[in-house]
Amino acid sequence: MFDKIVIANRGEIALRILRACRELGVKVVAVHSEADRDLKHVRLADESVCIGPAASVDSYLNIPAIISAAEVTDAEAIHPGYGFLSENADFSEKVKQSGFVFIGPNAETIRMMGDKISAKNAMLAAGIPCVPGNNDPLSDDNKKNLKLAQEIGYPVIIKAAGGGGGRGMRTVHTEAALLNAIAMTKAEAGTAFGNPTVYMEKFLEDPRHIEFQVMADSHGNAIHLGERDCSMQRRHQKVVEEAPAPGITEEQRKAIGERCAKACVDIGYLGAGTFEFLYEKGEFYFIEMNTRVQVEHPVTEMVTGFDIVKEQLRIAAGERLSITQDKVKIQGHAIECRLNAEDPRTFMPCPGTIDQFHMPGGPGIRCETHIYNGYKVPPYYDSMIGKLIAHGEDRNSAIARMNTALSEIIIDGIKTNIPLQHDIMNDSAFAAGGQNIHYLEKKLGIY
Ligand code: ADP
Repeated sequence: MFDKIVIANRGEIALRILRACRELGVKVVAVHSEADRDLKHVRLADESVCIGPAASVDSYLNIPAIISAAEVTDAEAIHPGYGFLSENADFSEKVKQSGFVFIGPNAETIRMMGDKISAKNAMLAAGIPCVPGNNDPLSDDNKKNLKLAQEIGYPVIIKAAGGGGGRGMRTVHTEAALLNAIAMTKAEAGTAFGNPTVYMEKFLEDPRHIEFQVMADSHGNAIHLGERDCSMQRRHQKVVEEAPAPGITEEQRKAIGERCAKACVDIGYLGAGTFEFLYEKGEFYFIEMNTRVQVEHPVTEMVTGFDIVKEQLRIAAGERLSITQDKVKIQGHAIECRLNAEDPRTFMPCPGTIDQFHMPGGPGIRCETHIYNGYKVPPYYDSMIGKLIAHGEDRNSAIARMNTALSEIIIDGIKTNIPLQHDIMNDSAFAAGGQNIHYLEKKLGIY
């Protein structure tokens, strides 16, 4: 195991990684921006290094500053968390070139998965079902493109190969709109992602978002930890996640999960990863792979009893996966509510000082947050300030526990989305389970 690592992130995930390090006896170097001196994990870390001003580009995205911090503190590895540099292939490469271990897959894998066309082709080769489409860059041949759309069948979606964050895609319902949509998406993709390549696939109208968690080691072993349903979304951002996904059978879990694990072995995947699918009319369609730990990993941890972050560290240190597939058992149900510092109606971010924080408790409740009494939520970063996770023997019990926890938690001084989360937990359609990705926006009247 490593003696010391750098956590190249902030907020709740940095604290989560620090806790895993503590358990494993690994020393922690916290790197932080000038605005983040008071972060909880910075105070708890063995050492801390300020890596630049508040703006992410100058600090959490500043590759030379992070690598220098690892050099001056004599750390061995760097954990990127999620967001920021976690899916940046150049960062992974530079970390390695500088003599450190990147806690995640190698640069080639990140690069392959970062391009949606190469990712889709790798998945097709590994036997993973994908959304029907051309799976090649679209040419400038209008006739060919019109014919292709006809073959796929309208509506179709034009997507940027280098797109991300829910941007760089356009839905086309009629032939008359196709060519213009291709031209516009190409132009936008060129400007936004520096890569004008676009491709075409079938637009699924009412899918659910279901994703599979995988872990792979450097000895050719891979497992899946079942699936999560993340269909409660607003503007393609997840709001509530749960595991297992309502209505998914053990046979479906096994069939898709095992294919994902096998795909990891085929592509030489390393560490934690997630295969994201759209699920419609009983069929799974791969959309992308996330090559990092995800915000919603705790729901999987709660139902499997498996520590994903500790395993990331072990795998990066060269150890074998600590369990085999037959040891993975899904027990009960877990739900996660993301807690955001935002107005619950307008969704405007609401940074500021937390006057009072009271953490909820009780059986099956887990609270992942870096906030504390008097903590000042800075305006420079994502508005997520924590996550509340409830585990119960079944879905109803998890919802009931979440409801109790939401009425116990106190975050005063700033506005939060707790009222919205309470509404969702008391919504009859949510209680029924299995709503599609448009449900929340329809409920909010914005779809
Ligand atoms: P990003 O990398 O920007 O997150 P994804 O490929 O993961 O892009 O897609 C983001 C979201 O866009 C999906 O969760 C889904 O809501 C929508 N989407 C993407 N592809 C399709 C499709 N073929 N049909 C319907 N919706 C889609």
